[in-house]
Amino acid sequence: MTTILVTGGAGYIGSHAAVELLESGYEIVVIDNLSNSSMESIKRIKEIAGKNFPFYECDLLDVECVENVFNTHKIDSVMHFAGLKAVGESVTIPLKYYQNNITGTINLCEVMIKHNIKKLVFSSSATVYGNPDKVPVEESFSLSATNPYGRTKLMIEYILQDLYFADSSWRIALLRYFNPIGAHESGKIGENPNGIPNNLMPYISQVAIGKMEKLFVFGNDYETHDGTGVRDFIHVVDLVKGHLKALEYLENHEGVEAFNLGTGKGYSVLDLVKTFEDVTSKRIPYKIVERRKGDIGVCYANPQKAEKKLGWRAEKDLNDMCKDTWNWQLNNPNGYRN
Ligand code: NAD
Ligand code: UDP
Repeated sequence: MTTILVTGGAGYIGSHAAVELLESGYEIVVIDNLSNSSMESIKRIKEIAGKNFPFYECDLLDVECVENVFNTHKIDSVMHFAGLKAVGESVTIPLKYYQNNITGTINLCEVMIKHNIKKLVFSSSATVYGNPDKVPVEESFSLSATNPYGRTKLMIEYILQDLYFADSSWRIALLRYFNPIGAHESGKIGENPNGIPNNLMPYISQVAIGKMEKLFVFGNDYETHDGTGVRDFIHVVDLVKGHLKALEYLENHEGVEAFNLGTGKGYSVLDLVKTFEDVTSKRIPYKIVERRKGDIGVCYANPQKAEKKLGWRAEKDLNDMCKDTWNWQLNNPNGYRN
């Protein structure tokens, strides 16, 4: 039986990955410091999958705790989701982001080396492409960062590459996510932002449920079909399926390899609003305001490398993403705090 350690497994993407791994017959061990999540999501993962697994409330900055997990379980590979992810906050408190994301990852890798575990799937982001010159974005494009959060992702990618240069037995997949949205179709797990959402989809669904009065659309003067920003929205369940394909790929391939996980299609902010309205029959009042500082106009993936090498492609469309987000929101108006 193959056992996967899932760091950050109580969080939005990690919880969906945990379900997918359990349903695909893997054993899992989850660690999370619950800094941006709750025990309730762990409970829900178990409910959906109908399986139990060990959970450790453990901080990657606490090496002893991480060591203990590796001493207790025979881990085969690691899916590493744990990290802080709020772009704006990373500008205000950069050291916390560098400390948490980078030191946390270094600690994890050190313990992995000690236990001779060399297979790692890492949550990177399309943010490592900075402000791309053209779209669709390919893995070979030049990399840069526009904020401390993005720099942590970029630095971790380089650190992982250096690990492989030093020891060619490492097998690492750098998965560059585009814009994950949606939720598990059961409506039991989903995105659960603290306070006012920073990201578009959770904001829209909180307007729909009446928690926010209206959506503020950040700019309508981009060079796009309706002037609003264009992104590659991908259903979180499709996204985590890509992780399982990456895991399989690492069984037969040494080295470090980056993959875009996106649909290859770009939709604007107003496209998403309109689809959400159509699917849910809820009206989303909005107001156009200034561009958000640091935002780019258009970003969508060329996902062909993942299709060719991993045998993975996104299956779900924007309707599914809106439907499942709304199902999660309706069933859990206060997120996991019900
Ligand atoms: P999330 O905040 O819901 O999940 C991250 C989890 O990691 C949380 O449960 C948090 O408590 C935990 N965590 C944070 N620091 C930790 C530490 N030091 N030790 C142990 N646990 C820790 O975020 P998410 O949306 O599920 O994102 C997962 C990963 O994917 C992150 O690395 C994020 O940067 C990356 N990512 C997310 C997106 C997105 O839009 N959601 C896009 C690109 C990349
Ligand atoms: N956006 C918006 N209002 C919001 C949040 C986001 O208009 O309240 C826009 C944002 O300017 C961008 C798109 O929605 O064009 C996606 O933003 P998000 O923060 O979700 O993802 P990212 O910027 O990381 O791609």
